[in-house]
Amino acid sequence: MLRKLVVVGVGLIGGSFALALKAAGAVDHVVGVGRRETTLERARALGIIDAIGALEASTLSDADLVLVSVPVAQTEKVLAALAPHLRATTLVTDAGSTKHDVVAAARAALGTGIRQFVPGHPIAGTEHSGPEAAFAELFRGRNVVLTPLEENSAQDVARVRRAWENCGARVREIGVTEHDRILAAVSHLPHLLAYALVDHVTGRPGGERFISFAAGGFRDFTRIASSHSEMWRDICMANRIGLIEELDGYTVILQELRAILERGDALALQAVFERAREARNHWLEQSGT
Ligand code: NAP
Repeated sequence: MLRKLVVVGVGLIGGSFALALKAAGAVDHVVGVGRRETTLERARALGIIDAIGALEASTLSDADLVLVSVPVAQTEKVLAALAPHLRATTLVTDAGSTKHDVVAAARAALGTGIRQFVPGHPIAGTEHSGPEAAFAELFRGRNVVLTPLEENSAQDVARVRRAWENCGARVREIGVTEHDRILAAVSHLPHLLAYALVDHVTGRPGGERFISFAAGGFRDFTRIASSHSEMWRDICMANRIGLIEELDGYTVILQELRAILERGDALALQAVFERAREARNHWLEQSGT
């Protein structure tokens, strides 16, 4: 049970975390901190937060847990501002989609206080953003990854784990490097490709006419191109080395497919499609996604 939760960045993820903990009866009081006052007012009107606070002692000094859920490039600024006001028993975690940069930012901002910072990443989201997009069930049955640091105590990691479990999530622990490598492949590359496909189709002369004929396939493939551009800019920049590696691997497959099409090799084309179809169906079955 958390007496006081502070959410810095009350958007889709921070808002959903607050709502899920409230729905589980796992938090008494939620205070939101943000960038624009209008966003915080909206979050309060929606019942996501109980009060609006700031990165200062009156908000932070009696907090049990602080969730930082801002675009990853904002992390260091936020942590540096909250660091002077943290008491020793307050835990800080985050929701950032990349972990190398976030951990480096936390080390720079928190110094020895890094032991109080347990990095996290809920592998759940939608293409919508802001407090209006938040909902209590977002994390139900979904993976949340923690990438604990050697400075974290087992007890503190367990406290953050429990908070996510109270949101209905399955919590998994992996290392920072593995996290960023895997997420480059299964999340960051698909977002880059979705944005690229929309740009490719609409950016041509007569693009308007092309997209007027688009239907379910285009919609499904590009759903995530409706995601927040600042957030995805920051993620792709933070993990650009891993993302370039994945992009190179994907380019090889595209070139293979191009060669198959050039030589008119229907069997080879179907073999690739069948392999991918089976792999996807297997993943759907296993994950219940
Ligand atoms: P979001 O809906 O856009 O919410 C982000 C919030 O952070 C906004 O309310 C924004 O305020 C606020 N903010 C931005 N800079 C700030 C600053 N310097 N100080 C205080 N508040 C600030 O984004 P989100 O989807 O919740 O993403 C939040 C984090 O979760 C990101 O790190 C992202 O990588 C991660 N994440 C996202 C997803 C996803 O699918 N969306 C999934 C997993 C993890 P304004 O309204 O004033 O701009």
